[in-house]
Amino acid sequence: MEMKDIATIGRTKEIVEKYNFSTKKSLGQNFLIDRNIIQEVLKKARINDDIGVIEVGPGIGSLTEQLAKVAKKVVAFEIDDRLIPVLNDTLSPYDNIKIIHEDVLQADIEKVIKEEFTDVKEVIVVANLPYYITTPILMNFLMYHKEISRFYTMMQKEVGERLSASPSSKNYGSLSIAIQYYTEAKIIQNVPKTVFMPPPNVDSIVVELVRHENPPVKVDDEETFFKLTRGAFVMRRKTIYNNYQSLFKDGKKKKEDIFAMLEAAEIDPKRRGESLSIQEYARIYESFKNSNLKF
Ligand code: SAM
Repeated sequence: MEMKDIATIGRTKEIVEKYNFSTKKSLGQNFLIDRNIIQEVLKKARINDDIGVIEVGPGIGSLTEQLAKVAKKVVAFEIDDRLIPVLNDTLSPYDNIKIIHEDVLQADIEKVIKEEFTDVKEVIVVANLPYYITTPILMNFLMYHKEISRFYTMMQKEVGERLSASPSSKNYGSLSIAIQYYTEAKIIQNVPKTVFMPPPNVDSIVVELVRHENPPVKVDDEETFFKLTRGAFVMRRKTIYNNYQSLFKDGKKKKEDIFAMLEAAEIDPKRRGESLSIQEYARIYESFKNSNLKF
């Protein structure tokens, strides 16, 4: 008998009942039950036999199965031990999937890439992310695993809109800057609540991130650059000058140094963080490096 795909209501219900599985909200467990939406995303990602895919949180294997049909190999990190026997069962027909039982934020991604993707031209990330840790997962991959060239990630709509927001728009923030420093970010798909079991409380979207060959600005110490951008948004309604008085060590006593640092970067101290472009932040970064200010 031909098995139905995992990403269907019927099969998902069957699996959940067979294992008497109850989803955990705390782990962001909402399973995809719509094969069409997955296939649309995979088509846009142009996945083929030359591509190795890292998946975060395979759940019961809905997305993993569709990935295995088109990619060379899929390596999926799942934190929930209850799902490991389920995945070993549901994905048993595929010989190009490796499930790693580990918190993706603790995993040695470098080692996995080296050992598992010996025979591929490109390594990409495709995931229906656990929404409670969307940002740390993306930032970890972007900052520390530069060989990953593209990302197709489903996330909460509000977060996805922040990733691709422009200066002075409502959703623009330090996350937009960090993401756009590394990648070209684009929303490629809206995802209704009805395609999940159980349905989440929020709408979802899929964001495509394509890593820049060269970032739009030159920054030699990314962590410092991001401290400066994050620090400008701590109190959104306040000026950058005000925010920086809280960001720097003895900032209240060093008002003049902060003022001078911003002036040297040709930034009006009365502006708000949300109005500044990534290029303007790069000027602040250069000016900060030449100052005596410390965090
Ligand atoms: N990919 C499946 C799907 O689309 O149906 C499940 C997606 S569900 C939104 C998120 C999955 O991530 C869950 O299976 C959850 O157990 C797993 N997860 C949560 N935190 C994780 C972590 N830190 N590391 C790895 N997996 C995690």
